[in-house]
Amino acid sequence: MAEQLGEVESRIAAACVRAGRPRESVELIAVSKTFPAEAISEVAACGQVLFGESRLQEAEPKIAALPSSIRWHFIGGVQRNKVRKILPLFECIHAIDSLKLAGYVDQVAAELGLFPKVFLQVNVGGEASKGGFEPGEIREVMSSLLGLKRLQIQGLMTIPPAGPEAESARKWFVALRELRDQLQQEAGAALHQLSMGMSGDYEVAIEEGATLVRVGSAIFGNRAYRVDGELG
Ligand SMILES: *Cc1c(COP(=O)(O)O)cnc(C)c1O
Repeated sequence: MAEQLGEVESRIAAACVRAGRPRESVELIAVSKTFPAEAISEVAACGQVLFGESRLQEAEPKIAALPSSIRWHFIGGVQRNKVRKILPLFECIHAIDSLKLAGYVDQVAAELGLFPKVFLQVNVGGEASKGGFEPGEIREVMSSLLGLKRLQIQGLMTIPPAGPEAESARKWFVALRELRDQLQQEAGAALHQLSMGMSGDYEVAIEEGATLVRVGSAIFGNRAYRVDGELG
C-alpha cells in the first residue's frame, strides 16, 4: 500500500504540473471503506492524514480505534437518522443531495453547536440510479442553501457516469466546474472546492479543477464487497 500511495502521489503531482496548478491546490482523500483499521494505520504511517468513509456503522469503530490526528470525510449517502452521529465525527460531508437534507443538517448542527463543512452533490449525468441535485434544480435552490447559516458550503461534488476510460469522465468534470462558475455568478456563492475524481479518473479530474480527489482502490487495492448500491 505504501508503494501504491506513492504512485498515486506522483500521478497527482504530475497532473498538477500538466494543469499548471500548485500541488497544494489538490488534497487526496484516501477512501478506506471496507478496509480495516490496520490498513488505515499503514497508510497513515506513510504520512496520509485524510481518509474517507461512506457508512457510519463501519466508520465508527475505526475512528475510535485510530489516532485523533487522522481527519475523516463522510463521502457516502447521508441518511437522516445518522446525521446526529456523523456531524461530530467527520470534518466534512460530501453528499448533501437535497434542500431538505441540507435544512435538516443545518438544524442538527445548530443543536450541536457545530458549523459543518459540506459539499453539494450534483448528478451531472442525470442518471436515475444516482443521488444528487439536478443541475437545473441546484440553480433554483442555491439561495435557499446559502441561507442555511450553520453550513459551510465548500463547493460541489459529483460521481460521474461510469465510462470505458478515464477520458470519458472529462466532460462531466468540465460540466461540474462550469456549473460551479455559473452558481458563483448567479447566486454570489463562494464555491471554492470541487470534489471529483476517483481511482480511475483522478488525474483527469485534477486537470479539470478538482481540489479534492477521492481515491480508494488505487491505494488500498480492490474491495472485496460493495458498500452502497452504486459503488463498490
Ligand atoms: C468508494 C468511493 C470512492 C472511491 O472509489 P475508488 O474507485 O475505489 O477510488 C470515491 N467516492 C465515493 C463517493 C465512493 O463511494
